Amino acid sequence: MTISEQAVQHRQDYDGASPFPGAEEHAPAGRLQVGLTATIVVVPFVALGVAIALAWGQGVTLTDLLLAAVLYVVTGLGVTVGFHRLLTHASFTARPWLRVVLAVAGSMAFQGNVVDWVAVHRRHHAFTDRPGDPHSPYRYGTGLRGQLRGLAHAHLGWLFADDPTPAERYAPDLLADPAMRRVARAFPALCALSLALPFLAGWAITGTLYGALTAFLWAGLIRIALLQHVTWSVNSLCHVIGARPFKTRRHDRSTNLWPLALLSFGESWHNGHHSEPSCARHGLNRGQFDPSAAVIGLFERLGWAGKVHWPDPERIQRRRAGPQRQAHAPTGD
Ligand SMILES: [Zn+2]
Ligand SMILES: [Zn+2]
Repeated sequence: MTISEQAVQHRQDYDGASPFPGAEEHAPAGRLQVGLTATIVVVPFVALGVAIALAWGQGVTLTDLLLAAVLYVVTGLGVTVGFHRLLTHASFTARPWLRVVLAVAGSMAFQGNVVDWVAVHRRHHAFTDRPGDPHSPYRYGTGLRGQLRGLAHAHLGWLFADDPTPAERYAPDLLADPAMRRVARAFPALCALSLALPFLAGWAITGTLYGALTAFLWAGLIRIALLQHVTWSVNSLCHVIGARPFKTRRHDRSTNLWPLALLSFGESWHNGHHSEPSCARHGLNRGQFDPSAAVIGLFERLGWAGKVHWPDPERIQRRRAGPQRQAHAPTGD
């Protein structure tokens, strides 16, 4: 049997509770990649400590917080509406300029370039919570220790593993799109822009270098850290805690987690999303706040978006799982 045949065999044999085959085999990424990833992950948190120390007794200005909020919304929607609902799942079509604007905004979120982001996320849907999933919290099994280890892996640890997702296989459509290739190549420059903008805005508004630096800290690094952890929480928490009102594929344990709905712009209705991946709205139940869907609706009214896959009530009804089940069943279900 070849290695890939063995991998396929392992995937078919998976029982839903054991550690994934090869889970203990750690192939660490190259030193350069680990160094870069560590920088991207650690620096924003060091910044949080610095910011709190600076703000103590002097406060942080309203300008810093407003700039942070604006950039959080713009880059966050770039990820949720652009990277995720438009480019990964094609839940609507957008005018070419809007596609580029959304891809640029998402790139400024420091979550990887658009092509790789889409490829990894499609692979997550292809192998959700079973061997092959790049970031499943069930990687180390469903025992308490394995579960905690799995949560850390799904949240952050997976970024440090050498587990490449071939874009040729998972995102050939984006690779065939010259505009998306250009946005992907511009990723480092867009990251720099994402930090330069708050610095320059802070400088322009306050006229002082100190004002520029506090804006850089709050609306640059801290805003990035918050959005990163909210996005990663969808990968980790939204596969472990919360409600599972909708049917998903075997082994898929995605959940709806309401406390994250606002900060994640509706992405934490993750069970609804895994049940109907190409639907433009993830909050499929009444009253489930989904700002990303509202933005897509606005684009549609403006004539900028078309072919929007809105929920089909009959289909959604058929996807209901019956009495509400909780995701976390220690014995595995
Ligand atoms: Zn998921
Ligand atoms: Zn998705």
